[in-house]
Order: sequence, then structure tokens, then C-alpha cells
Amino acid sequence: MNVKFEDIEQSLVEGNKQYQWKIIQEEESNQIDGKIPIYPVLILTCMDPRIDVYRIFQLKPGDAFVLRNAGNVYTEDVLRSALVAIHKYNIQYIVVLGHLDCGMKKLRLHDLTNKLTDSAIKKIGKSGTNFYLELLKFFKAFVDEIKNIENQVHKFRNAREIPTDIKIIGMLYDPNTSWVFRNEELKLYSNYEDFAKGYRNILQTKKYELIDYIESHQDEIIGEGVLQDVERRIDIDENRKNIPPTEITKNQESIINDKLEEIPNETPILNFNKNVSTGVYSNLISIPKIKIPKIFVPKIKVHVPVIYKKNEIK
Ligand SMILES: [Zn+2]
Repeated sequence: MNVKFEDIEQSLVEGNKQYQWKIIQEEESNQIDGKIPIYPVLILTCMDPRIDVYRIFQLKPGDAFVLRNAGNVYTEDVLRSALVAIHKYNIQYIVVLGHLDCGMKKLRLHDLTNKLTDSAIKKIGKSGTNFYLELLKFFKAFVDEIKNIENQVHKFRNAREIPTDIKIIGMLYDPNTSWVFRNEELKLYSNYEDFAKGYRNILQTKKYELIDYIESHQDEIIGEGVLQDVERRIDIDENRKNIPPTEITKNQESIINDKLEEIPNETPILNFNKNVSTGVYSNLISIPKIKIPKIFVPKIKVHVPVIYKKNEIK
């Protein structure tokens, strides 16, 4: 597939025009209130295009520093930027946001060798005799996303340039389910394999967190009209109340599912889809879509330029 750069440029420029139009219509805002960054945090994540850091955390421009590279790894340049963020912008936290299904995990170094130019090979292999080891060091490929996060957190912690009061935290993102997993959740799993095995239960826990979130925010996110229906759905799930997520058995799960089926709605809250390729369960959480009637208010602001009459030439 050969896409002309002109076409790419065209869509980028058109995208920018669309953004400008949305600013005029007040659907988007380019205004930043207060000192940047709003949150004293720097997020280091992978360059994987599926990760939209601002979207997954619902951040706005100006909210946080984001650094990206292949595999969210600690490098000299990451250190350079981190030091600027710490000393010039007073950030207090660094988050290493790794993700599942990372391309750096699949990187086949031997295949890559055939594609590298001579000068690239020369550059990578310059200081060592074991070329494969040099390749590994250069590309910083890894075999385990969970361990990689831990390793990068350690590298930050061990860097003497980073002040000791800066907190370094690991997090994991799953591009398939869009869930982010906290440091505490990751600590329970020593590697990717353990995490993948426990994924069904992990997502189950997330579902409860989401239900709690909906319960506590119901007024603002749902609106009163549909509240009862949602409450009914949550009540039906009361089986969960006294059971720690890890202890939910297949049987209890099916009881919950049976109960859910009693609700006359096409969208089940629990919906287990096993991903054939990864063997893990995704789409575990399927929250019913809540329709809120929208009143369309056109927000077009037309700026009429003030036309000054030219002074008549005397
Ligand atoms: Zn990645």
C-alpha cells in the first residue's frame, strides 16, 4: 500500500480545519485554565497509535505531560525530558503506562537485521562483538509487558538524576478493552502469563468498579429519567455484593447471567467473549447503552468583521 504524502498531508490539514471549526462552534476548546500542567504528572507510554492517552483518561490539553516511544522505555532522552518536567514544571509523579499486545514484544530482531541499512548495522554493532545482544540493547525489545513496566519503573527509581521525592508508578492499558490497570492491580501478577490467566477475574473486578462508579455518578452521567432502569439492573447483580471477585465461580456467574436474562433488554451486562488469538476474555463488560434525548442546539458563532469606513481622501 503506497499512500502519497500529499494525501496524508491533506487529511491532516483538513483535520485541523475541522478542529478550528469545532473551536468556533464551541464543541472543542483550546483554552487552558491555569498553570500547565494541571496535574503534576508525566506519563511515559508506547508510541502504539491505539493509545490515545488524553482520551483514555479523559484529559484535556494542558493537563499532563506525555512522552512516547516504542515500548515505553526509559532512555537518555526520556530522562532529559523528565528532568525538564520535574525542574521546570514541578511534576511530582511519573507514570509508566505500558500496554498489552505491544509491538515491541513481537519484534523479531533477526528478521529486522535483513532490513537495516549497512550504516544502521554499523551503528548498532559498533561497540560489541555479540551483534544480537547489541540489537537487543539498541531496540530495547522485551518479552513480557508486565515485567517491562516493572523494569522501566526500576530504571527511573535507580536513576540518580531523578529526585527521590518523585513517585514512579506503573500502569497497564489494554487497547482491546480500553481498561487501564493500576499499579496495585498489577502487583498481584508477576508476569504477563499470570495476568492473562487471571484476566477473566480482573475484568470482573473492573465491572464492579464501573457499577460503583455509575452508582456514585448516576445523577450526572445518566439523568433522572433512566435512573430506575439502571438501578434495577444493578440490584439484580446483588449476588456480587458479598463475594470477592476472585471467588466468583462459574456457577455463580451463570446465576448472575440467568438473572440478567430476566431483564427485558437486548444488551446483557455480562457478556463473555473469548478472544481466539489471545485466549483471554474481552468485552467482558458490556454496559447497557443509555439513551439520553438530546436537544440539538446549533452553536454557530459568526464573527462579522467590523468594517471601518476609510477616511475620505481630502
Ligand atoms: Zn507498544
